[in-house]
Amino acid sequence: MLDYDGTLAPFRVQAEKAVPYPGVRSILNKLLKGQRTRVVLISGRWTKDLIPLLGFDPLPEIWGSHGWERLRTDGTHQIAEFDERALIGLAEADRWVEEKGLADRCEHKPGCLALHWRGLTQEKIRGIHSKAITKWTLLAKKTGLMLSEFDGGLELRVPGRNKGYAVKTILAEMGNDSVAAYLGDDITDEDAFKAIKGKGLGILVRDEYRSTAADLWLTPPEELLEFLLRWHKTRGGGR
Ligand SMILES: [Mg+2]
Repeated sequence: MLDYDGTLAPFRVQAEKAVPYPGVRSILNKLLKGQRTRVVLISGRWTKDLIPLLGFDPLPEIWGSHGWERLRTDGTHQIAEFDERALIGLAEADRWVEEKGLADRCEHKPGCLALHWRGLTQEKIRGIHSKAITKWTLLAKKTGLMLSEFDGGLELRVPGRNKGYAVKTILAEMGNDSVAAYLGDDITDEDAFKAIKGKGLGILVRDEYRSTAADLWLTPPEELLEFLLRWHKTRGGGR
């Protein structure tokens, strides 16, 4: 199970240009074709924004929008139902973003609104952060939305699903003798690390170490590639 941004692909100011690190596609394509490892992407992004960047063949199963969307390998796509009150909250946050002239920094996806500031000066980031945190904290209290920070922004999410939910669902579908790992970089990946604790390996993929529930720490791309290659050799049916 793999997060995408910051894990398989380096961050880019223009998120639509964030393609995998060189070497990632070739190893994952081998794993996908070998069919002995179930490869699942679990991302905060909307699946429709993620798919054009991947270059994986065949396409793996993808969970998008922090667990709210599931796209299976047979092409079936499910979006879970959202709480009405939370949706009203998201609409209000969206209006606020428009009013403040921040619409071009805003990412819309099922059950989530994200404000991005990657590439801005520290001063501008502080300005946006202080405005947004005040308004969105109030909104979260009023409507039950969850407010969380991620690497490069802030987001409001409908509660009830997260990456941990996706990991628990996948693990429950696999046999008890399966060997599982989850690789991720961000704060939202901590739910996934907690979900896999004791059942598989949680791996923090990041240039700098931080406090985490993961079991291992790898720096990308070299150690990430080495890990994927070793997995392919030992568990990928790798000929
Ligand atoms: Mg990430």
